[in-house]
Amino acid sequence: MSFFMPFFARPAALRALRDAYDILGDLTPLKMNCGKLCGAACCQSDETGENGMLLFPYEEWFYRKPIKGFDFHLVPDDTLFKGGKRLVCQGSCPREHRPLACRLFPLRMRLHTTDEGQHTEIIPEIDPRSWVCCPLPEQGGLRAMSQDFIEAVRKAGQRLIQNDDMLEALYNEQQLMNEMRKF
Ligand code: SF4
Ligand code: SF4
Repeated sequence: MSFFMPFFARPAALRALRDAYDILGDLTPLKMNCGKLCGAACCQSDETGENGMLLFPYEEWFYRKPIKGFDFHLVPDDTLFKGGKRLVCQGSCPREHRPLACRLFPLRMRLHTTDEGQHTEIIPEIDPRSWVCCPLPEQGGLRAMSQDFIEAVRKAGQRLIQNDDMLEALYNEQQLMNEMRKF
């Protein structure tokens, strides 16, 4: 990537992210606050204290300055793309500052390609990584979740894949999931 590339790519990526945030709005997996079911298990630290949520490309721009009421730090994480970041928090945050991955959880955006790669679409699915802490996959899974939430995840994904950086990150994540499913 050229040195100047981020200056050109960032605005478009941030627009895609903001649109995805808007599409998801205040929707959550259940009509009720699912955090009451599990004590907000997905926001708790693991034994390392360094678990966190992978950020989408350029999303770290939203976290370049301290945010009142949000104790977090960023760590390098190349899981989805080179130069990626992971946000590590202390278990609570203002809703409007949640990273996209938190807004989607426990779903993820499955990248589905048809017509020999001519057509790409997003299909919301349970994130296999959610099974370790979230009770929802076992308690009815997608059928028990808010259909508005599922549809918003789909629409947010459709918006993201209009951006090449987001598409690449989702493609890499899809490859990762495909590898995980082999074991
Ligand atoms: S772990 Fe699952 S049920 Fe609990 S707050 Fe997170 S998404 Fe909701
Ligand atoms: S950033 Fe917020 S929503 Fe995401 S894991 Fe941390 S406390 Fe939970």
